[in-house]
Amino acid sequence: MSDAIERVCLSVNSVCNLKCNYCYFFAKPEGLPGPASLTAEEIGTILDNIHRYSLRPEVDKRIKINFVGSGEPLLSWTAIRTAVEQLHATTPGHRLRFYMVTNGLLLTDTIIAEMKAIGLSPSVSLDGPASLHDHARVRHNGRGSHAGVMRGIARLRAAGVPVAINTTLGRNVVNHLEEYFQFIAEQGFEKVIFDRLVDVPDDVAVSTPEFYRALRRIAELKEAYGLTRLEIGNLEAYRRAIAGKPDRVCTMFGSTCGAGFNNIIYMQRDVYPCGRMFGQERWKLGRFDEPLERFPERMRALVGQQGCGSCASQQSVAGPDCLIERERPDYSSEPRKAFIQWFTERSKVSERLP
Ligand code: SF4
Ligand code: SF4
Repeated sequence: MSDAIERVCLSVNSVCNLKCNYCYFFAKPEGLPGPASLTAEEIGTILDNIHRYSLRPEVDKRIKINFVGSGEPLLSWTAIRTAVEQLHATTPGHRLRFYMVTNGLLLTDTIIAEMKAIGLSPSVSLDGPASLHDHARVRHNGRGSHAGVMRGIARLRAAGVPVAINTTLGRNVVNHLEEYFQFIAEQGFEKVIFDRLVDVPDDVAVSTPEFYRALRRIAELKEAYGLTRLEIGNLEAYRRAIAGKPDRVCTMFGSTCGAGFNNIIYMQRDVYPCGRMFGQERWKLGRFDEPLERFPERMRALVGQQGCGSCASQQSVAGPDCLIERERPDYSSEPRKAFIQWFTERSKVSERLP
């Protein structure tokens, strides 16, 4: 397995126009890197460094750049747009691809046109129908955000932009998956990615066994609702892994942990292997203006090869499991293994169907 970085998350600020009650970034205020957002120039420095790294021989894919939060990226839209425009102008042959996860509230026709012009694909955070979404995703005044998010999605669709949905898989959504799928079917969404709710108190977090049970139920409901055109990003990741092409990113939305080796995150000016490690000094890999090749080297110094899966005991058909979970005293690889076994068998059966 290659150690090349294939995905870079960029958290450009730590401010948000929502106050979701499960937001783990704001649940640990002492861990946040501070409100000072990256400037266009600083984002440009990061993009230039990623571009230089993408020319290295070990990099076999175009690198995905995902603007995500410990805050809402559209609050820094001018800086992001300016930096990406600058990269296109100075380095037209670059091999970077741009994505953004937004809560959708600030999407305007102008911003959507600008996104299209710079080749940035947005996905919108939505937890299903208002009854589920507004349970957690609330504004600072406590009111639900569902109607506003749906207006943003309607604008994207009117502009012909394919809409991917990011859903936080909290206990409430897990307990109402049928209601969730009914809504997804009615809306005709084409792509959904579930993010397991972690690093919040145990009574609301979704445990590893619950997560894999939910993924199984999700696969069953997709079939039950006849949603053949709907792509569930998490299931697709396992399908690719079973076919021998695992995404080396994160078990939350992919099949394999790539923390620090294949996947890094800029928390404004500090670099970490993954967003769940933010604020923990022992996991800090460096600063925003350093060359990228230093980060996997430092990761190797921190954990040896265990993160990249060369250790046979950490390997499975899908690649290494979550590094953070593996460090927990109660860690068990069994729920993930059982899911992969079930999903592999099910995929074989589906392939045999006419
Ligand atoms: S939109 Fe994202 S960053 Fe903002 S409060 Fe909600 S979960 Fe946190
Ligand atoms: S350590 Fe866990 S949460 Fe972080 S990238 Fe790996 S799988 Fe994802």
